[in-house]
Amino acid sequence: MRIKRRELFRQSASSITAGGFLNLVSDHLQANPLDNSTPAFRFVHLTDMHVQPELGAVEGFKQCIEAVNRLSPKPDFVITGGDLIMDALAVDEPRMKLQWTLFDECMKGLELPVHHTIGNHDVVGWSKNQQIKPTHAQYGKRLFAERYGHGQTYRSFDHRGWHFILLDSIGQASDSPDYIGLIDDQQKDWLKRDLEATGKSRPIIVVTHIPFLSTWHQVVGSPQKALSAGALISNGFELRKLFEPYNIKLVLSGHGHVRERIDVNHVTHIQSGAVSGMWWKGPVFGDAEAFGVVTCHADRFDYQYETFGWKARKA
Ligand SMILES: [Zn+2]
Repeated sequence: MRIKRRELFRQSASSITAGGFLNLVSDHLQANPLDNSTPAFRFVHLTDMHVQPELGAVEGFKQCIEAVNRLSPKPDFVITGGDLIMDALAVDEPRMKLQWTLFDECMKGLELPVHHTIGNHDVVGWSKNQQIKPTHAQYGKRLFAERYGHGQTYRSFDHRGWHFILLDSIGQASDSPDYIGLIDDQQKDWLKRDLEATGKSRPIIVVTHIPFLSTWHQVVGSPQKALSAGALISNGFELRKLFEPYNIKLVLSGHGHVRERIDVNHVTHIQSGAVSGMWWKGPVFGDAEAFGVVTCHADRFDYQYETFGWKARKA
């Protein structure tokens, strides 16, 4: 799709205040390769695959990958949103290794480059019910970092004028081995430097496993329902001010397995359901197993929720 110059101006004007408009558009046209003569690009957000030997999860994920490979126009890459395997928090070593082997086997079929985001279930042994102890060489986030994160659990990259930030939203409770939603201090310092280097005009997409925001606990519970420390990023509010001067367009998340979109404070938060639906047991509150397809234009995006025809098997 080609973006007309008039359209580009209209989109930019709708997303910023009039005072900064001319400077921003001028910077934008110089710095952003997606100008009026460049087609948009797409990428796929696959989250909460929870690969395991049971319930046809391997066949289901392969069916999802085939659907991604068939997308036309072809996306430029895939971003996974975490919980790549069913669970590494509270299983023994053979079970943990089997799940990663199955995940790798599925991923061989993907015909696109991939960037991985860490989820809580990808962290080894961070649970009161841990079977793999802290003395184990692969305890914690080391396995993910080495095999799926280019040596890190959070990082960023640029693609055709857009900046992508993949966060590590998995912290650890101070009084137990359990995970909580948290962006730790070291990562916050890195994020501050990363945003400064990106600048205020470049459009940014943030990917996090645990969401910053979700209405879901209110929907199924009540406005007074207390959230567990693992439900949302517990210090997400600290990042709002950090993000505010920058052109953050979209925050993509998973974790809750629900399909949800919240537009607030000039940022869109989308939770892309789950590739595994209800852990391969069927749809989640009427939403089928699915993934997100994001189309990036010069300074805005479109989002589509794509199902891939999976029918849950009986246990
Ligand atoms: Zn999760």
